Amino acid sequence: MTLQTNEKRLLDNLHTLRTFTDTPQDGVTRFSYGTQDARAREYIIKRAENCGCSVSIDALQNIRIGLPTNKPGRKTVLSGSHIDTVRNGGWLDGIYGVCGALEVLETLAENPDSLKDASFNYELVIFAEEEGSGFGSTMTGSKFITGIYAEADLDKLVSDTGMSLRQTLQSLSPYGPDGKTIVYNTGGLSQEALQNVRWDFDQVQTMLELHIEQGPVLDREGLSLGIVDSIFGMRVIEVTLTGVGNHAGATPMTERYDALCTAAECILAAEAHVKTDDDKRTVVTCGKMDIEPNCSNVIPETVRFSLEVRDKDETKIDRFMNEIIDLIVAIAEKRQVNCEIKEHSKSSPLHLTDRLIDAMSKHAAALDLPYKVMDSGAVHDACMIAKYAQTGMIFVPSINGRSHVPEENTNDADIAAGVQFLLDTVLHELHEVK
Ligand SMILES: [Zn+2]
Repeated sequence: MTLQTNEKRLLDNLHTLRTFTDTPQDGVTRFSYGTQDARAREYIIKRAENCGCSVSIDALQNIRIGLPTNKPGRKTVLSGSHIDTVRNGGWLDGIYGVCGALEVLETLAENPDSLKDASFNYELVIFAEEEGSGFGSTMTGSKFITGIYAEADLDKLVSDTGMSLRQTLQSLSPYGPDGKTIVYNTGGLSQEALQNVRWDFDQVQTMLELHIEQGPVLDREGLSLGIVDSIFGMRVIEVTLTGVGNHAGATPMTERYDALCTAAECILAAEAHVKTDDDKRTVVTCGKMDIEPNCSNVIPETVRFSLEVRDKDETKIDRFMNEIIDLIVAIAEKRQVNCEIKEHSKSSPLHLTDRLIDAMSKHAAALDLPYKVMDSGAVHDACMIAKYAQTGMIFVPSINGRSHVPEENTNDADIAAGVQFLLDTVLHELHEVK
């Protein structure tokens, strides 16, 4: 059975959702639980309800939307992603996978005959708070779904404005901007409500996430599709360097214990060291730094920065990170600056389901689509699910490899081909896998 997605409808949805942003002149800014989030949820829920689908929202505000033809007791094939963004992000990250799964939902709802012999149900899933823009922790919704996060984390996760995740969830009102469509679950955060956020993985047949690549590989190689096999793991440390704050004019260069110059040397040493990697896949990033007192005329006394190493090989992550820690300690010692290093977080590399990788590769080859089986340097909601259910990920090219910036883009033809490929894969999963 082949079905055709509706490219115009898909692009219309994406372009409408692009306007739901707090920064209209400067990319898409749509944080979880905010006004633009409510608008986007309302838009998607209304479309789904118009084709007779049923919507359920859990206490963390993850959404699941099922086809009217779904039958109780059957396992489910799920597809989806997230609708929140980073600040001044792009118009496709997350929402592309949601609109793709919505297009699959609408196409299947219009063609109930195509599901006559289906063995499984189909649902669209929207994971809440993926980017960590609100509470500093990524994939929050899917971490509650899998039980990595539990009730205590509702109080530990706190936004920049000092509001905890619990307070934020408690402050939501149920309706979207039209005052009619329920977009948030305000049923409270009882033990039972939180227990219901956890998925029963015995009922999950397959999880599929369609996403933009967010890197340069497919665009550079002129390919239109990526089938993900491995997801990078990472190890993150927090380094605090404490020197001596002093007057920026009166302190000679030979008598300084400058925490920021020390940090700069450490970060450049880490970069140079990781660049010696033979297969050029290990990456190191310092993305966050606090400087005290952060005044133009005072030598920085304290600098705190994050450093993360990622690779698909866990032994390489550990080896590089351990070597970087030795370098940092040596540099701090040489500069007579105090150094404290804390392990911040760690996640292991992940391999997605071979059966799905094989099936999708065969299908792409049969369609003559230029594709490759590839790693993902970024972690996605599907990676959380992958430990418990058969999981596949599909990438489409990001032009010039740009993402999390207003310039983020993908050609219309690639956008459409990715969604058609998702529909083909969903149909295959619904019918042929027992
Ligand atoms: Zn994303």
